[in-house]
Amino acid sequence: MSKKVLVVGSGLGGLATALRLSSKGYEVEIVEKYHQPGGRLNQLQKDGFTFDMGPSFFSMSYEFDELFKFCEVENPLRFNELDPVYSVFFEGKKEPYYIYKDLVKLAKEFQEMEPNFLPRVKGYLAQAKALFHDTENRVIKRNFDNWIDYGLGMSKVPLKHTPKLFRSMWSELGNHFESEQVKIIFSLVAFFLGATPFDTPAVYSLLNYTELEHDGYWNVKGGMYKITEEVVKLLEAKNVRIHFNTEIKEVRNQSNKLEGFVDQHGKLWTADVYVVNSDAAAFRGKVLNRPRYSEKKLDKKDWTLAPFTIYLGVKGKLDGLHHHNYFLGNNFKEYSSKIFKTSVSPEKPYYYVNVSSKYNAECAPDGCENIFILCPVPDRRYKPDWNDAEELADTIIADLGKRIDYDLKTNTLSKTILTPIDWEEKFNLYKGSGLGLAHGLNQVGYMRPSNKDEDFGNLYYVGASTVPGTGLPIVVISSKLATERILNEHAIV
Ligand SMILES: Cc1cc2nc3c(=O)[nH]c(=O)nc-3n(C[C@H](O)[C@H](O)[C@H](O)COP(=O)(O)OP(=O)(O)OC[C@H]3O[C@@H](n4cnc5c(N)ncnc54)[C@H](O)[C@@H]3O)c2cc1C
Repeated sequence: MSKKVLVVGSGLGGLATALRLSSKGYEVEIVEKYHQPGGRLNQLQKDGFTFDMGPSFFSMSYEFDELFKFCEVENPLRFNELDPVYSVFFEGKKEPYYIYKDLVKLAKEFQEMEPNFLPRVKGYLAQAKALFHDTENRVIKRNFDNWIDYGLGMSKVPLKHTPKLFRSMWSELGNHFESEQVKIIFSLVAFFLGATPFDTPAVYSLLNYTELEHDGYWNVKGGMYKITEEVVKLLEAKNVRIHFNTEIKEVRNQSNKLEGFVDQHGKLWTADVYVVNSDAAAFRGKVLNRPRYSEKKLDKKDWTLAPFTIYLGVKGKLDGLHHHNYFLGNNFKEYSSKIFKTSVSPEKPYYYVNVSSKYNAECAPDGCENIFILCPVPDRRYKPDWNDAEELADTIIADLGKRIDYDLKTNTLSKTILTPIDWEEKFNLYKGSGLGLAHGLNQVGYMRPSNKDEDFGNLYYVGASTVPGTGLPIVVISSKLATERILNEHAIV
């Protein structure tokens, strides 16, 4: 007999779990707070422009292949590989550094600042590669049921990697490279984990291996929102319904079996099994009222940086910009160590820019571009007030215009700003934290909120704040891990 599963949230984690379970014969229904699917992998359409709201690229593209293969459907997405993987503009230097996957080409790019780059980067990446392959299947892609299980998993990781547990990514880079710029460029991956290289453990140097050597970076033909749209199409074909504008606020009947969730209108939603795609820590606190996840305790956890995002529709073609661009100042250390824990907006912000119309002409009217700007900022624990949003956006737009020699202000046809408050309100991101719980060693693996509920035997979690962590491919892995548990513990007989 089939079993009914209710998924709370239609982010990539919720959608992928729904697809996996519906393809194994479960009857699945989804409730979603927002008016359309995707969560952070969402889309904004305005004034003739189409913007991806959050993610603009991903690594480990094979995790998407695994998802569709598991569900026995053809991968409907077409991926573009990015090469150069990104470009980095430093203050005062007009030309960016292009980060090529071809290390010989990259060595030429860096020859003035790091003359001995090639052997150094090869040594650095060899260590990162070993670490990635020694942990991918043993730690990252596994469910752990208890401390012993986790300890056993960790004990299979060769001891040679242990020193990387005890130093920061920044100091690891210092062991391999002399140039400040090269260290800064390679440390930018720490921001993908939502933190700075000074508070990110050196183990995450494995991300440099994933970007430069392993699978690289990819985006999707037609825009990133195609991922959401195509998965939703597959779900519709399997009769999975998504109920939008429906926010779960309470639980019903707290025994050791969850009996239902109640939405904002008081409607009761019931199923045999429940999967929560809302933030796995915040939901336990706010909806399940678990004392271990009270606001006070949640505030003490380490959260990733919050996004301040700008969506600009601009008249004209911007030749100076590439797919994936970082604009940095000249005070990286000072900026990274101070700016994320203050209530003041940065005077000279560091930011990331993506122009998806360069790949997908249909995202902007003829002769125009769509610009997405992401500036990492403090979450709402540190900066609750965003009355200065317009001012910060103007500072960033003026700086970008100056650096690419283009009058963005006069040519702006469409402008939307999302502050951490908007991100929190739209998708229930805790205090506006963009990527969920941080990935320090005390908040990963068995120490991250589990994908299996502590009390209710029929409640599971998927997404960025449960295992293994944040980012699109990792959330797809999360859906695999949650599904594995459900298939084992609530099999259809
Ligand atoms: C600005 C930005 C840029 C990013 N860029 C990248 C990138 O380039 N590459 C990359 O790999 N990753 C990127 N990320 C991270 C990536 O977006 C996330 O890791 C991933 O999308 C998280 O998916 P999820 O399924 O865990 O959660 P979400 O996408 O947050 O989905 C959760 C869903 O649950 C809904 N929900 C929450 N609470 C309730 C409730 N109580 N009732 C009903 N529904 C509820 C929410 O509305 C939401 O739709 C970015 C994130 C941000 C914010």
